Amino acid sequence: MSDARLTVLAGPTAVGKGTLAAYVREHHPEVWISVSVTTRAPRPGEVDGVHYHFVDDATFDQMVADGELLEWAVLHRTHRSGTPRRPVTEVLAQRRPALLEIDLQGARQVRESMPEAFLVFLKPPSWEELVRRLVGRGTEDEADRARRLETAREELAAESEFDATVVNREIPAAAAELVELMGLREV
Ligand code: 5GP
Repeated sequence: MSDARLTVLAGPTAVGKGTLAAYVREHHPEVWISVSVTTRAPRPGEVDGVHYHFVDDATFDQMVADGELLEWAVLHRTHRSGTPRRPVTEVLAQRRPALLEIDLQGARQVRESMPEAFLVFLKPPSWEELVRRLVGRGTEDEADRARRLETAREELAAESEFDATVVNREIPAAAAELVELMGLREV
């Protein structure tokens, strides 16, 4: 197994990819995690250059036109996020393991452009648990609920496109599994 592998972590909405990536960032500093560019506004606590590079639409357009993004996608029909290509290339050249936490559309683009990348699918412990996480406190109306569940069902069907699956029961255990798949030792 290469010690310089590019790993992509993807999975259905609300499965906990972001939380898992944040845990890996904190507990496994040997893993380099890509910082995406996004056109959405920062949320409270999000730091430019740490959680995302926050850019305007024109800058994002320019990056796409210049081929600076390894992949990108429209998210929630409201904004675009993408992975800057150069840092990924540089980190892999240093033989450091790299992780991208991106959505399914992005994972498919990476598969196309970098077939050697290792794709990990993060899955909920059960369909019922995903429904619970998605539906939350029941604040959405019936149509929105149905739409979210339909999206989740489609997204779950993508598992077979991936090289490995990690079930997200507890974040620390899922993180340990992920780094092991990346060829690293739990320390
Ligand atoms: P959030 O806006 O909550 O940080 O992330 C929302 C979704 O955007 C998550 O599913 C996350 O995986 C995805 N995402 C974040 N950055 C990127 C990126 O650079 N490319 C793609 N394709 N998806 C991303």
